[in-house]
Amino acid sequence: MNTFDINKLLRNNIRQLSPYQSARRIGGQGQVWLNANEFPYPKSYQWQQNTLHRYPKPQSELLINAYANYANIKPDQLIVTRGADEAIDLLIKAFCDPNQDSVIYCPPTYGMYEICAKTYGVKCKSIATLANWQLDLSAIEQQLDSVKLVFVCRPNNPTGNTVEAITIKHLLEITKQKALVVVDEAYIEFTPTQTLTTWLNSYPNLVILRTLSKAFALAGLRCGFAIANSAVIDVLTKISAPYALPTPVIDIAVEALSSAAIKIMQQQVKQINELKQQFADQLNALSCVQQVYPSDGNYLLVRFNTESNIFKQLWQQGIILRDQHQQLGLENCIRITIGTGDECATVIQALKQLAKE
Ligand SMILES: *Cc1c(COP(=O)(O)O)cnc(C)c1O
Repeated sequence: MNTFDINKLLRNNIRQLSPYQSARRIGGQGQVWLNANEFPYPKSYQWQQNTLHRYPKPQSELLINAYANYANIKPDQLIVTRGADEAIDLLIKAFCDPNQDSVIYCPPTYGMYEICAKTYGVKCKSIATLANWQLDLSAIEQQLDSVKLVFVCRPNNPTGNTVEAITIKHLLEITKQKALVVVDEAYIEFTPTQTLTTWLNSYPNLVILRTLSKAFALAGLRCGFAIANSAVIDVLTKISAPYALPTPVIDIAVEALSSAAIKIMQQQVKQINELKQQFADQLNALSCVQQVYPSDGNYLLVRFNTESNIFKQLWQQGIILRDQHQQLGLENCIRITIGTGDECATVIQALKQLAKE
């Protein structure tokens, strides 16, 4: 029998690609899931199910208007996507020629910018952040040739820090006419830091990413947004799939954006932030912890003292965290999502127990 080798058909870049190690792909068996920066409680929704025989609209005005209202922008500055991840995908697909153009991202940071670029055969320029995790602007400036997109995660996942606004301003200046600056605001609700949406009028090359997956507690819904001036939005709309968003997704997203639901979200975010502070203090008091980094997100990056396999030992106890040791400069670091109070207490208990053994 002839053996069929699928690899011979594959594009080179796909053959070489290692997929994003999403929290769900990694697997694990646990009772305590603190590895995907999800919100710890579900909310319940109702949606009209009587129109599912019809295709949805490409972009629902109801949802566009609801989010534009929430984000304080104009409806033509917004496109709804299948999670912020699809917005990353659309941007690369629209602006980067394979084997020719490049994207910049600044590790340690979110992994999808790199993986998505590699999927399209687009070159990656990985420009390490400075020791304080701020951007190395002069290195970026020197490497702008062929660059179409510069991704900045703000607040940054997994470190939790926020790149200074003045730095983004400089970045927008040095990339003007050359590249888009994509500021990923997936965690913006958790920080007092101002969003950059108010800068859209001054910077035609600014793009902002948002999602309902984190503060809105809707990771399973798969609903995100790209915000930019209408010229950019028109391009993304042009290449977006004809019926990109399922009708129930649109209905639930609209419900989640009612003013009452937004108030509840904001209260819950406040609780998560209070819990984050207590959790950070408790972690800092442990002998195995070297440092807990200040975080503007719903997670903490923790550096442990030794190569002590803490990640694996907790994993075996069903406490699933996010190992970060493979990220640039994050040796012995684990990212822990702020879960419920009970879940945080379980982590502290388990770490105390490990220290005794
Ligand atoms: C979670 C996350 C996303 C993905 O959001 P989805 O809307 O669920 O696709 C994007 N960027 C960052 C930095 C994230 O942490």
